[in-house]
Amino acid sequence: MNILLGCIADDFTGATDLANNLVRNGMRVAQTIGVPQRSLDQEVDAVVVALKSRNLEPEEAISQSLEALEWLRTQGAQQIYFKYCSTFDSTPTGNIGPVTEALMHALKTDFTIATPAFPDNGRTVFKGYLFVGDVLLNESSMKDHPLTPMTDANLVRVMQAQCQAKVGLIDHRSVAQGPAAVQQRIADLKSQGITIAVVDAVSNDDLLKLGPALKGMPLVTAGSGVAIGLPANFGLSPTPQSSTLPHAQGLQAVVSGSCSVATNGQVAHFKATGRPAMAINPASLMHGQTDAVVQQVLAWAGPLLQNGPLLVYSTAEPDAVKAVQAQLGVAEAGALVEHALASVARGLVALGVQQLVVAGGETSGACVQALDIAQLQIGPQIDPGVPWCHAPAQNGGVHITLKSGNFGTEDFFSKAFDTLH
Ligand code: ADP
Repeated sequence: MNILLGCIADDFTGATDLANNLVRNGMRVAQTIGVPQRSLDQEVDAVVVALKSRNLEPEEAISQSLEALEWLRTQGAQQIYFKYCSTFDSTPTGNIGPVTEALMHALKTDFTIATPAFPDNGRTVFKGYLFVGDVLLNESSMKDHPLTPMTDANLVRVMQAQCQAKVGLIDHRSVAQGPAAVQQRIADLKSQGITIAVVDAVSNDDLLKLGPALKGMPLVTAGSGVAIGLPANFGLSPTPQSSTLPHAQGLQAVVSGSCSVATNGQVAHFKATGRPAMAINPASLMHGQTDAVVQQVLAWAGPLLQNGPLLVYSTAEPDAVKAVQAQLGVAEAGALVEHALASVARGLVALGVQQLVVAGGETSGACVQALDIAQLQIGPQIDPGVPWCHAPAQNGGVHITLKSGNFGTEDFFSKAFDTLH
């Protein structure tokens, strides 16, 4: 098999977000969970290797990303796409910068771009500053993220802090003029010794103008937005067939471990519809109590599942999250909750759930791993950045959607099940 585009995503929701944009623009896409051991059986144009590397130590994130790169190269990938979050989730030690530099080194390339712009979801970059909706990144709810609080909206500065290489900017003037101007700007930056450039984009039109300028660039690093302009470089255009999934069956549930503003709103909305919902308090998981808590949740869920979708969540407001983190430590709190929610997801599937909504990037990673899902087929979009996916198995498999924390409208959880039917 010779794939056109080989993608490495730093979390699982981000991987489906990217796959979604590629599918919608005409590519046949498979998403693998982790680096596959062998070639895929399916004929596809792009493979997205989903890693859970966003919050690892940089050395480990680099090592996993290079392993993914090696596999993608053996599949013939003509271009590599490193996908990260549209809110540029990272810390001063990484992992966006270190992984980008390691991939550049391995690909022996002397220039790449970096832009999380995703206008369909309100992520725009102007003069190198990232806006989330109408506010700068550091004024958005991302300032309170449990693992990667973002306190600076200037992406040139943020990226420079993570990189050895010199970071510059391809600003909106060049992007608006089109591919030739972008290429000229790239040549100018290279002559100044700059090897990584943040790119402005405030609309899909900007991203579509950027696309042709990226043709043949060995490595592209971005959120999912840039992907809308790439399939055309390979002569592909949108077709409805690329997003067809098998018929959905089985019971329905939502597992939510995201504490984002959007997810808090979605949890509140779902509860307000009168559907059953059970909260998991992280403090109750301490002292080896996770298994007992999971059993309680599953005993509660068992009979209720027959009546329609239910919700299990640890989603909480920033103050509550901070209090738990102060008690347990940030990493320990995250890991405890992820482990509990992943066990709940596995238990729910054992109870007959075959339509599962998971909210939260790290949470999705933990759940997909606990469910032993190796590969996902990408289906129809529920909201920008969030498609339904299907993981095949003998019993008909599981339809699953992995929602990045800040994505989706308030009624996302109910709408997701409606979209599937
Ligand atoms: P998002 O997509 O919104 O970033 P993630 O799942 O990636 O969501 O990250 C949320 C992190 O917060 C996870 O590590 C999760 O386990 C942790 N978490 C979830 N609920 C709580 C809580 N109530 N208190 C502390 N941490 C929590």
